[in-house]
Amino acid sequence: ATPMSIMVASGRGAQAGVLFRDAAAIETLQGIDTLVFDKTGTLTEGKPTLADVRTFGRQRAEVLAYAAAVERLSEHPLAAALVAAAEGEGIAIPRVSGFQAIVGRGVTGRVDGHDVAVGNGRLMDDERIDAAAGREVAEKWRAKGASAMYLAIDGRLAAAFSLADTLKPSTKPALEALHEAGVHLVMLTGDNAATAKAVASTLPIDDVHAGASPQDKASIVAQLREEGRKVAMAGDGVNDAPALAKADIGIGMGNGSDIAIESASVTLLKGDLAGIARARALSAATVKNIR
Ligand code: ADP
Ligand code: MG
Repeated sequence: ATPMSIMVASGRGAQAGVLFRDAAAIETLQGIDTLVFDKTGTLTEGKPTLADVRTFGRQRAEVLAYAAAVERLSEHPLAAALVAAAEGEGIAIPRVSGFQAIVGRGVTGRVDGHDVAVGNGRLMDDERIDAAAGREVAEKWRAKGASAMYLAIDGRLAAAFSLADTLKPSTKPALEALHEAGVHLVMLTGDNAATAKAVASTLPIDDVHAGASPQDKASIVAQLREEGRKVAMAGDGVNDAPALAKADIGIGMGNGSDIAIESASVTLLKGDLAGIARARALSAATVKNIR
């Protein structure tokens, strides 16, 4: 690669909203045959909103107050949605003590002398809470692509919440272009399998791994490379950083966390996957120029 063509390529890349860390990244991206990506914040806007609430023997304002009290200390986008909903409805949010975040599951704490847990079915299982009454409505929400969460107060199911996140407008055309170019598309998410499948069903995605921890995401990327694939991984979150580091090339979303951007050698400034198709075309032109 001549320094001149690299300068031109990185300059054009910046215009297209794609930032390359170094010259090698420009060339590596062109040779990619597999793109792995996270769902929340990468395919979707990453700003879920509260779409529905089902209560079990409690008032709506009460369950929102308890859930928001614990979620206020969480950095998860699902947590922000619950807090915003409570605030939006003018509900006073009580203080929490003994807050704990359980990665990939949810949060727990004490509110007004009560034990409160907010999170997915796995968290309810861990806390030995019977969430059976909420399962049916949760499955209905998940089949529509929403994320479902449960609230338990003093060991009893108190509510189920539906949190809906919308696809970025650029996601579908970007994936269609990459799929047509023969790129194998794989979605990884910490979210539930039913939600993941519903979202994937509207897109040209070849493979889906749900319920994945940050380490799972990293080992799936490593596995694909062992199979001889040339893998790009795109992600926005702290939980994507290990997988970004394991890929042939890590792609951070400009709308994402600093850690994801630091772990990546390419950054999509506008946070949309269309930048990948543009960047590959750019890399192809540059590499051709060089040879
Ligand atoms: P991802 O960002 O890929 O969805 P995470 O590991 O961050 O993966 O989250 C996985 C799942 O864990 C979420 O879909 C949710 O069900 C649950 N979860 C994580 N954090 C929270 C939280 N603060 N409140 C409620 N649920 C949570
Ligand atoms: Mg994410």
